[in-house]
Parts: sequence; structure tokens; C-alpha cells
Amino acid sequence: MAPKQTRTEGQSSAKKAENTQQWLTSREAQKLSYGVVKNAGVPQDYEQMQTQVQLSSGNKLDYDDSMPIVTTLPNLGLGATLEKFPDGWTECLISGYLKKKIVNTPGFPAAIPRPPIARHRIAESPGKGLGMFAACNIKPGELVLAERPLIIAPRAIFGVRVAGRVPRHYTDEQYRQVTMFERERNLNLVTGRMAPERLEPLMSLANCHLQDGSGPILGIIRTNGFQAEEIRDKANTSESYYSVVCNELSRMNHSCSPNVARHWDTASFSMQIFAVRAIKEGEEITTEYCDLLAPAAQRQAELAPYGISQCVCPSCSNPAVSDPLRARIRVISRKMDDAGGWMNLDFPEKPDVKPLLGDLITIAKEGLEELDEYGYILWELFKTYATLQDSKNMLAYRQKHKAWKAAIYPDDAPEYEAGIDDLLKLMKFGNLSLNKMMKGKGKAA
Ligand SMILES: [Zn+2]
Repeated sequence: MAPKQTRTEGQSSAKKAENTQQWLTSREAQKLSYGVVKNAGVPQDYEQMQTQVQLSSGNKLDYDDSMPIVTTLPNLGLGATLEKFPDGWTECLISGYLKKKIVNTPGFPAAIPRPPIARHRIAESPGKGLGMFAACNIKPGELVLAERPLIIAPRAIFGVRVAGRVPRHYTDEQYRQVTMFERERNLNLVTGRMAPERLEPLMSLANCHLQDGSGPILGIIRTNGFQAEEIRDKANTSESYYSVVCNELSRMNHSCSPNVARHWDTASFSMQIFAVRAIKEGEEITTEYCDLLAPAAQRQAELAPYGISQCVCPSCSNPAVSDPLRARIRVISRKMDDAGGWMNLDFPEKPDVKPLLGDLITIAKEGLEELDEYGYILWELFKTYATLQDSKNMLAYRQKHKAWKAAIYPDDAPEYEAGIDDLLKLMKFGNLSLNKMMKGKGKAA
């Protein structure tokens, strides 16, 4: 892996000083290096700063929104063991705002949902270290695993946090090294509180940042962290997110055609995965670390910081076939947005299932059932068959859409789907009401 370019060669010292100044006053997150960084580590003349992080005890909540704190969630008291609390707990480096938001979530801390039998196992994945595999056949929409994270820490690292302590002659890379060093010190405060039974699995996770100056904990977080929609700061920018690291879920390998969707549930404080298509016993369970609709070359660039130098999934192995298919799915995205989303109630005036079935095949060929575009096509097929008074196919696609939605939007209450069904029953096509068709009566039934 080539080291990432960090500075422009031959830059004038005036320009360099200007850049440095910008960096010192900037609230922008540092883009961290990866791969092999020459002379990684902090410069010898660097004086470490006083930490601003507060250790938070128990249920204390009266912090400033931006105050960084180290806290255990849920707070189970000293001496908690997995034997006593099998759902576990999470050591967090989060803002005062986020702690308040989590603790005030209705139901927090709820019990973690569990599938009726274990549906996953961790085993060797050839060429990829450990991976997660299906322990049984899994149906679309089914919960595979829910897990409380080991650790949560900010994704972005802001230069401003170390401003003032850093000599002006440092290169951009040296600033980055200092920033990472300070983050590692803060992370040490977090892991210093961890029970051995939580720390040991964390430290045994993969680390592909051994030569870029990341400390051991930061390296593991950078390699294994997931982003979760609800775990973010008030600012709500791409830099407000956190890295969520789990024991078993972080073992999942990447695929550009993932067979599960990740979901975060704040009430049970757990990361959850649901099958987006049928998974056979023994099949590897995979998730995505990159933008799935990007062309293969761009996906490759996004995967490099995770130590994946060449993705071997079928789509990356054959971009000449895959790239045009993914480009077609981007066209479906635009159609979906124009139509008002993946569950709109406009029934087609000129019903035609042919182009929709073509779109469905395209998405399934690329293994992208996780995308909203897939749910949109299932829903359009349901409406189109309803308009054609073909109750058999109409019901089949209604069911498929429900299973898809259970996997992607598990938070929606069952009453919501029932409400949609009630609404649909009031609709009429020719002399047939949707109510009758939904009971299996229609032209093609
Ligand atoms: Zn791939």
C-alpha cells in the first residue's frame, strides 16, 4: 500500500506557515494518514498537553454539550460482570450532549433482542482473518445478531484540540502524529476502565494501522469502527459521528454485495444486523465499508484505509459488467427521489411490470437488496400488480416489501404496516377493491 501524500513537495515556507496557521485555527477534522508513514510518532520536542477529558461517574448528566467525557453506558455500577449482565456495557468517549441524549432515550437501557437460536458463528475466512458465518438458514428480514458495543469514540479528530501546544515548524504530518498521540492518550483513559472480559476481545480485533502512527487502540477503532446514525453530536455534520466497535459484529468482513443491513438501536444500546436476502447455513455474513453505488475504482480507494488492498467480491472482480449495472441503479435512485420515496401512494396510470422486473433483476444481480432502491422497486411492483388486478403477484410483492422493510427499518412499529394495509383496502381498481384482492380475489387469483 502506498503511503498517502501528505504535503506538496517544494512548497514555499510562507505557504507552509499559512497552511499551518489555517490548520491551527481550523475546526475541520484531520484526515489521518494510513499505510506506511515515514518517521511515524510524535517529534521528540513535543510536550504533551493536559487532558481536557473528564471521567464521568454514574448517572451524572449536567455537562456542557461539547464537554468530552469518559463514561460507561449503561451504568451498571462497579463490579459488573458478563455473567450478571450478559448484554454487556460500553465504555464511551463522548460529548456531554450525547450522554444526555442516550440516557434520556425512552426505554434506555432496554434488553438486547435475541434471535430464537444463535444464527451466526465466528470462524476463519480464507484470506481475510476471522469472519462471521451463518449458523443456520436465515430468511430475509430476520435478526441475525444484536450486540452492545465494547467501545464508542469520536470518528473525527479535530486539530484545534491540540492547538497552542504544537511548535509552528511542524509539518502537516507531524501535526497529524501529535493529534493521534493525544487521541490515544484519551483512549487510554477509556480502556483503563475496561474489565478484562471487555478489554481482551477489543485488543484482539484486527488492526491495519500499525505503520501510520496510530496508537494500538486508535488503530483498532479505525479498522473496526462502524458509524451509527443516532450516535452523533448536536452539530449533525459528517464530522459529528462516532465509531462504534463491537466484539462479534466488528468481525464481519466487507462485501460490495452485503447480505445484512446494520441498524443502531439506542434504547437497547445495541448494533443489530438483519438479513436483506436469504442466507444459507455456512455462508459468510458481510457488510459494507464503502459507498455501494460508487464505481469499482472509487470503492477500492474508499476501502484502502481498512487494509483492503483489493476487494475480491464478484462486482470488483468484473467492473466491466458491474459498473454499468450500478450506474443503472443510480438512475433508479433519481426516479425514486422524483416519485417521492420508496413507499409513495401514487398508483401507476399506465401499469407496466416489465421495466420494474428488469430493475429488480439488476439490483439482485449486484446483490444490493440493502438499498432503498430495492424496496422502492418491490413497492412499485406491488402497486402495478394491484392496478392490473393481479392479486397473486400483488400479495407476493406486498410480502416481499414487508420483509425488506423489517430488515432495513426495524424501528417502524407493526401498527404502521397495518395502517398502510387499512389505507390500501379503501382503494378501488375498476370494479375490484384492493380489500378483496388482498384477500386473494382478483383476475389472476
Ligand atoms: Zn467489492
